[in-house]
Amino acid sequence: MTLCGIDPEPVIVVGAGLAGLTAAHTLARSGVPTVVLEAGPRPGGRIHTRSAGFDAGQYGELGAETIHGEYAAVTALCADLGVELSETISFDVARTPVTAIEGLLATDTVVVGGRVLTTGRIESICREVTTALRRVPPAPQETLAQWPRRAALSDEARAVLTAAGRALAQRDSAQTDACVLTEDATRSSRRIVGGTQRLIDALAADLDIRLDTPVTVIRQRRGRITVLLDDGQTLSSSQAVVAVSPFVLGAIGFDPPLPPATLLAAASAPRSHGVKVVAQYREGAAVRTALARGVCSDGPISRAWVSSGDTSGPVVVSAFSCGTARAAVERGDAAFDALDALLETVVGSGLTRISGVVKNWSADERFLGMGGVPPIALRGSHFALLNAAERRVHFAGAHTDEAFCDTLEGAVRSGRRAALEVVRHPVRVSAEYCNRKLVRS
Ligand SMILES: Cc1cc2nc3c(=O)[nH]c(=O)nc-3n(C[C@H](O)[C@H](O)[C@H](O)COP(=O)(O)OP(=O)(O)OC[C@H]3O[C@@H](n4cnc5c(N)ncnc54)[C@H](O)[C@@H]3O)c2cc1C
Repeated sequence: MTLCGIDPEPVIVVGAGLAGLTAAHTLARSGVPTVVLEAGPRPGGRIHTRSAGFDAGQYGELGAETIHGEYAAVTALCADLGVELSETISFDVARTPVTAIEGLLATDTVVVGGRVLTTGRIESICREVTTALRRVPPAPQETLAQWPRRAALSDEARAVLTAAGRALAQRDSAQTDACVLTEDATRSSRRIVGGTQRLIDALAADLDIRLDTPVTVIRQRRGRITVLLDDGQTLSSSQAVVAVSPFVLGAIGFDPPLPPATLLAAASAPRSHGVKVVAQYREGAAVRTALARGVCSDGPISRAWVSSGDTSGPVVVSAFSCGTARAAVERGDAAFDALDALLETVVGSGLTRISGVVKNWSADERFLGMGGVPPIALRGSHFALLNAAERRVHFAGAHTDEAFCDTLEGAVRSGRRAALEVVRHPVRVSAEYCNRKLVRS
């Protein structure tokens, strides 16, 4: 697409996570060039596949790894880019419909107080919760810490809901809507063959991405955007897409400042603080058998599951620790020790850890947390504020998508939406840009 024979000026995209890269890729397909500015040393953001240190060609996912059945935009993007998805992993439980928590409890091993609960105990707790839900339905504004107390659930049922709630929402129960108890379960999922990073690599292939380039200020004056970089350099354009996590938005200087309601909305989602732990164990067969689907616990590790698709050889286990529980795993080898202990409880014997890696998303200044979904009571206005363009600056990011907030699907949908906004905006080319281009050609 050219304007009077002059190529359009590259649109500035801030953040090379899945949302920013999808926006840039979508714009490239429409003939609009972009320059993607990324603060970190690699593209992908909260997608990070690491193979270094793992035996037998296996790898660990420090960020996202599951693509749920309803992720239509991610599935279409993978097909478009030739990125291979695994076979569908379905979970079938006897009763339908089933809620997310019931689904988790029907398939995961549950460890409470350091002990594995028997299937009989879990079924009895599910009955207790179902009866209470009918008798005392949770209010929309009630949390998963409040409702079980009001409904007078047993201590054991409360501990199980705390563990299951943390496994599902990646937050403490006082920050989680009680409605997770009534939400429908996701019934199938897939992974990207070779690691989630393959999607990032495919998106990034033809884009101009500048790594280690943090944006510090975004200025708008008379239809021009000037972006100030950490090293003092500037870049300008007529449009920009900002695709950073809502918690780091507050660290970028906007001139003029963002509206107070937008900043408040960005900061108001309860933050999922957390640490991801990935470890490879020699006893692959024993771990695969014991962790048929996953294990959730009320201890320092919130949930663990088999991450490698291989059916023989060593096994890679992914796990995360979230909310206040993560404090117990933030130092030294504590995360590995906690994961070893949980897996040994479930497997029933000692395990040999070959390697492992820990990523503390809350301690990384480019993310300041794993993510955050606003409480139901705030949703309507929240997304409208986060989606709204500030004149020529458009906002993307998984947190801006109401239907799939804080997921891979939300990131792709938001990137596409922002790209569409850019394309629909009237093009303005500065006299200085025209001069520069004409002199060069
Ligand atoms: C541990 C973990 C597991 C997850 N698992 C799943 C899962 O299984 N399935 C699922 O659907 N979702 C999952 N998610 C959520 C999913 O990863 C995210 O929703 C999605 O990747 C977010 O993409 P994004 O592009 O919106 O943001 P990000 O990935 O956060 O990208 C933003 C980018 O902006 C950069 N940036 C920040 N500040 C600046 C600046 N000043 N200048 C320039 N660049 C900047 C960052 O470095 C980053 O690369 C998981 C998240 C985590 C943390």
